[in-house]
Amino acid sequence: MAGERRTITLMAGDGIGPECMAAVRRVIEAAGTKITWEECDAGAEVFKRGVASGVPQETLDSIARNKVALKGPLETPVGFGEKSANVTLRKLFELYGNVRPTREIPGVQGVFAGRRIDLVVVRENVEDLYAGIEHMQTPGVAQCLKLISRKGCEKIVRLAFEIARAEGRKKVHCSTKANIMKLTEGLLKRTFEEIAPEYPEIATEHIIIDNCAHQLVRYPEQFEVIVTTNMNGDIISDLTSGLTGGLGLAPSSNIGNDVAMFEAVHGSAPNIAGKNLANPTAMLLSAVMMLRHIGEFAAADKIENAICLTIEEGHTLTVDLAHSQELSSTTSQFTDEIIRNLGRRSSHVASREYRPIKLPYVDPRPDLVHAKTRRVVGADVFVETADDPHTLGAAMEQASADSSLKLKMVSNRGTKLYPGPKQMTDCVDHYRCRFVMRDAARDLSDADLLNLLQRVGAKRTWMHVEKLYEFDGKPGFTKAQGED
Ligand code: NAP
Repeated sequence: MAGERRTITLMAGDGIGPECMAAVRRVIEAAGTKITWEECDAGAEVFKRGVASGVPQETLDSIARNKVALKGPLETPVGFGEKSANVTLRKLFELYGNVRPTREIPGVQGVFAGRRIDLVVVRENVEDLYAGIEHMQTPGVAQCLKLISRKGCEKIVRLAFEIARAEGRKKVHCSTKANIMKLTEGLLKRTFEEIAPEYPEIATEHIIIDNCAHQLVRYPEQFEVIVTTNMNGDIISDLTSGLTGGLGLAPSSNIGNDVAMFEAVHGSAPNIAGKNLANPTAMLLSAVMMLRHIGEFAAADKIENAICLTIEEGHTLTVDLAHSQELSSTTSQFTDEIIRNLGRRSSHVASREYRPIKLPYVDPRPDLVHAKTRRVVGADVFVETADDPHTLGAAMEQASADSSLKLKMVSNRGTKLYPGPKQMTDCVDHYRCRFVMRDAARDLSDADLLNLLQRVGAKRTWMHVEKLYEFDGKPGFTKAQGED
C-alpha cells in the first residue's frame, strides 16, 4: 500500500554501484518515501570470500522474504568461479521478464534527440539459448539447445500486454525469427496471436527481429512495447538503450511470479569507479520502476520529473551528459540538483498515467500443454564421420536394411545431401540421418530405436538421437533444407 513503510533488499554492487546507490537512497528519502533498506552483499567481494555463486545465502533469504530488491552492478572477477551472480539471481528467483524502458529525456544530445522515443522492450529472461545447455558433439562441432516453452511464452506475452495496459499504451509488437525457427521462435509468435484477442483495446503486430532492428534505428518512435525471446531481446534492448543516451540512462526490472529485482542496465564501469563521476540516472530510474511496482506512484512521478528537469535544464550534469570535463558536475552535485528539483515538473516530458501492473497468472503445472494424440514416426540419429554424404547414405541404407525403419535422408548442418545429386555444401563431420517407419501406420517403439542405434553404431559413431513426434497429427519436427 502506498505510504506504508516497506522493507527492500539492497545490493549496492561493485564499481560505481555504491556511488549510484547512495544517490538513490538520498533522493528517495528526500522524496519522502518510507523504505527500510536491508543491505546485503553480492558480487566481487563475495566471490573472493569463496562463495561460488557470488550471492550468499543471507542475501537470497532477504530477497525471498522482501520480494523486492534493488541491485547495483555485479562483477564476476576473473579467476573466482565462472558463474555470473546476475544469472544466479535471475534463475533462482525465476525472474522470467526483463523489462527495459527507453524514453527520450529532453536535453540529452544525440542522433535521435527530438524524436520522442518512448518504448519498452519486454524480454524473456530465462529460456532460449540462455538455458546454457551446450555440448561439443564432435571435436569440431558445438551445439547449444534453444529451449522455448509454451509456459515461458505465455508468461512473457501476458506480461507485455499487462505492461501495455498499465501504462496506457496502444500497441504491442512481437518480434521473432519465426520465419526460420518455426517451432521455437514460432511458439512465441503463435502464443502471442492466441493471447492478443484477450486485450482487444491493444493493437498488435508481428515483426521479424532483423527488420525490427532496422526499424528501430530508422523509425523508433513507431514502437511502444516489444515482446521478444531472450537472445533477440538481449541485443535489441541494448540497441534501444543506445537510442536515447546510452548506459548512464537505461533502467530495467527483472520480474518473476513472486520476486522483482530492479537494476541499471550498465555494469560496474571500473574505469570511473570511486571518482564521483558516474551518472546515477539509470539506477535512479530503476528505483522509479521499483516505486511504481510497490504502488508508490506519486513518489515515482516526483522523482522522474526531477531527474528529467535536471537533465533538461542542463546546469548540473555528469560528465557523460555534459560531454566536457570542465563543464561537468560530480555524481553528488548532480544528485543535490535532483533533490532541489523535487516537486518541479518538466513541461517537455509527456506525463503518463501509470497503473499497477497486473502480474500474469499462468498455470504452474510443468506439463501445461497436453496433446490428445501423439505418435513417434521415426528418429533422427546424429552421426560423426568424415565420409562424404553418399558414402554415409549408402552405409545407413545398409545398416537399416531388413529393419522396421528406413533411411529417409541425410543432412549436414540442416541441408539435405542424400539422396540426390552432389551439392556444393562444405560438409563437417556431423550428419543427421533421418529414419522413418517402413510401416507408416505403426509407431516407433523403444525396441525399434535401440535396434536401429545398434545397427548404426556398428557402422559409424553416433552421438545424439532425437525421436520424431507427431502431436495431434502435426509434425513436431521441421524438414531439412531441400527435404520433401
Ligand atoms: P559497463 O560497466 O556498463 O561500462 C561500460 C562503459 O560505459 C564505462 O566504462 C563507462 O564508459 C560507461 N558507463 C557505464 N555506466 C555509466 C554510468 N552510470 N555513468 C557514466 N558512464 C557509464 O560495462 P563493462 O565495462 O563491459 O562491464 C564492467 C563490469 O560490469 C564487468 O565485470 C561486467 O561483467 C559487469 N556488468 C554487470 C552488469 C550487471 O550487474 N547487471 C551488467 C553489465 C556488466 P566511459 O566512462 O568510458 O564513457
